[in-house]
Amino acid sequence: MFANRILSGMRPTGSLHLGHYHGVIKNWVALQNSHDCYFMVADWHALTTNYDAVGGIEASIWDMVIDWLASGVDPDKATVFVQSKVPQHAELHLALSMVTPLSWLERVPTYKDQIEKLSGKDLGTYGFLGYPLLQAADILVYKAGLVPVGEDQVPHIELTREIARRFNNLFGREPNFEELARVALKKLGKASKSFEQLRTAYLQDGQAEALAGAREILLASQNLGVADRERLAGWLENKGKTILPESEAMLTEAAKMPGLDGQKMSKSYGNTITMREDPATVTKKVRAMPTDPARVRRTDPGDPAKCPVWQLHQVYSDDSTRAWVQAGCSSAGIGCLDCKQPVIDGVLREQQPMFERAEPYLTQPKLVREIIAAGNAKAEQVARTTMQEVRAAMGLGY
Ligand code: SF4
Repeated sequence: MFANRILSGMRPTGSLHLGHYHGVIKNWVALQNSHDCYFMVADWHALTTNYDAVGGIEASIWDMVIDWLASGVDPDKATVFVQSKVPQHAELHLALSMVTPLSWLERVPTYKDQIEKLSGKDLGTYGFLGYPLLQAADILVYKAGLVPVGEDQVPHIELTREIARRFNNLFGREPNFEELARVALKKLGKASKSFEQLRTAYLQDGQAEALAGAREILLASQNLGVADRERLAGWLENKGKTILPESEAMLTEAAKMPGLDGQKMSKSYGNTITMREDPATVTKKVRAMPTDPARVRRTDPGDPAKCPVWQLHQVYSDDSTRAWVQAGCSSAGIGCLDCKQPVIDGVLREQQPMFERAEPYLTQPKLVREIIAAGNAKAEQVARTTMQEVRAAMGLGY
């Protein structure tokens, strides 16, 4: 397991809006400084619901990746790649499908929700039922320790953990496991004795501190390869080798980005500002935003709590501007267009570096292709190693 490794992805939806930026990508930009991040264009996933409208996928991929880069995703820090270009995602998905009970997929809460929500589409397909399994494969093929998700996605991570557990139980016992674990133990050097003592304390008396202490030794050891580390992790708990480690959900706060009408910003509500929307359109859109209906005339006082513009002040304004809005709105001391100007300024200020970062990729699209090609190769290197272990464990190592 790579405790510090993160896997996250987005379906290619074309140009992104500020809701995507505040809800997901800003978090990625922060995480890439502290974690080993894999950011994936989930193009296979786009097909699970849009298999009948594939024409725009490629253009959407490039537009979306440019928006990632414009936001500050840095390919020198994070691995940025396209899911379908790393064939091991599909391969592991197939391998896992052999051992995943149908009922596990049918009970995923989003399955029925989505079928109801997208009732105009025929989603009675295997691909749609299996998409949480594909997500599991996406995570497990990198042995990612952490997956940033909102509350609603936690059941998917739980499913991923169950599948990993089932896989390890079925295939984790190598014929000479004990012997291999003993060889790995020696590689711990001086710490091997403590590790063995802690293991005994855990197995005999169930001491949780002993288990934690032994895991720390494994984490700190410089001499172990991935396979030996996982062998010892399994041996420690008297289980087999952990081939596919269980990932943890990294809970992220729900996006707070309101749209132009006060609902959550979303393409389907038609209330978005795209990340690289031109300044004139941004100005026009914000100036046209609805306000507290009580403010019919400039002289009518209003209540910011009833106004979508106030919600954008929560994102873009500092305390003193917010105090100015509260006082000016409730006393009719300011007009709504006055009130909207700091929001317009805030959005334009946020977008400025995005335009600058996007510029070279727009003028030289080959730079984006090169970044993706390098990311694909790096991702595939990791995924290939996992699949070698998976194949060997499943008796397909020939
Ligand atoms: S002054 Fe500002 S907060 Fe008050 S209604 Fe107008 S736009 Fe909304």
